[in-house]
Amino acid sequence: MRLTFIGSGSAFATIPGNFQSNMLFETADPETGEIRRLLFDCGSDVRWGLAALGLGHADVDAVFVSHLHADHVGGLEWLGLKTYFVDQGRRVPLFVPEPLRRPLWENCLKAGMELLDFGLADLDQLFDVKEVPIEESFTWMGARFHIVPLVHLRGGAYLMWSYGVFLDTEAGGVLLTSDCRFEPDRLEPWYEKSAVIFQDCETLPTPTGAHAHFLELSTLPPEVRARMWLYHINCTARPDVEGAGFLGIVEAGQSFDLGTVR
Ligand SMILES: [Zn+2]
Repeated sequence: MRLTFIGSGSAFATIPGNFQSNMLFETADPETGEIRRLLFDCGSDVRWGLAALGLGHADVDAVFVSHLHADHVGGLEWLGLKTYFVDQGRRVPLFVPEPLRRPLWENCLKAGMELLDFGLADLDQLFDVKEVPIEESFTWMGARFHIVPLVHLRGGAYLMWSYGVFLDTEAGGVLLTSDCRFEPDRLEPWYEKSAVIFQDCETLPTPTGAHAHFLELSTLPPEVRARMWLYHINCTARPDVEGAGFLGIVEAGQSFDLGTVR
């Protein structure tokens, strides 16, 4: 399994040659040997980000959605309507954490996607929806993706959750956090069992509270930082992350061999 970053930027970033933080899990189909791609989030930049890798909508074999900000779901209208009209109704498998399914359609997609040539559609007519219970996992191409619920925003009594994934590989675990606040009590159990961590990291001068900030992550033990790649960066001067003990900041197009996923 490979993990390729289409982009490593934040929602607001306009970094030349980089895009919002959407990724591709890539593996050979066990039956045909063809390369298959699971798109981890489908944000507003995604068609340009895929094009920069020489890919397009037809190369997307499945999608996972971590949460409902536009840099993570704003490209689903493009993908769903293009596959409907150009690929003769092909429905891309869409893995959706159970709490997100209704608001994804009702609050994000319905207004732009509901009316089709036959009448009124629903999400199931545009995607092959696969609802994932948040305490469980889903399997794609024989690989198990464990759901990692993390808090992204706190506003008064309200929480916004984002769902990362954990893969158990032969070389050790791999954690992809998705957007999350710095809440060590939630993150540490996943850090402990991960050989490699891909961590949401904000680099703004002042923390917004929506993302783990570089200064917060710098307080982690050295042995955790030594396993951690940072992504979801802002348009700011690049901090000296290697000097702070991290593996680095992921570049757009950077690809990682995850080895065999159990
Ligand atoms: Zn977000």
